[in-house]
Amino acid sequence: MSQRKFSTFACKACGEDIYLDPNRTANSGTRIPINASDDNPHVCPNKPIKPFPCKYCGQPVYWDSKHISPSGKHIPVNFSDNQNHDCRNRGEQRQQNNNNDNDNDDDDDDNNNDSI
Ligand SMILES: [Zn+2]
Ligand SMILES: [Zn+2]
Repeated sequence: MSQRKFSTFACKACGEDIYLDPNRTANSGTRIPINASDDNPHVCPNKPIKPFPCKYCGQPVYWDSKHISPSGKHIPVNFSDNQNHDCRNRGEQRQQNNNNDNDNDDDDDDNNNDSI
């Protein structure tokens, strides 16, 4: 194995050995955890769910790495029934998006952009 400059630590959720590489960050600039075993981004199977209110309708939703749209975007999932959150309000607000352009669809958990 190659020598690693970064110290590993156990993922709090699943116990797997991971490390943080300052050169591998998500869009937001957050460092993403990397598997010590294979140097791939750590996609945690036991990641705790952090629901947040949908900004369009207020329902509790969360991000799930398994719920990805065909275009590669994360789809919010209903906290209540674990189904894809198909927000009606969202479509309407998108059309008349002229007050506050606060459209932050990118979530900090996006581990898919490690292409360098
Ligand atoms: Zn983990
Ligand atoms: Zn909604």
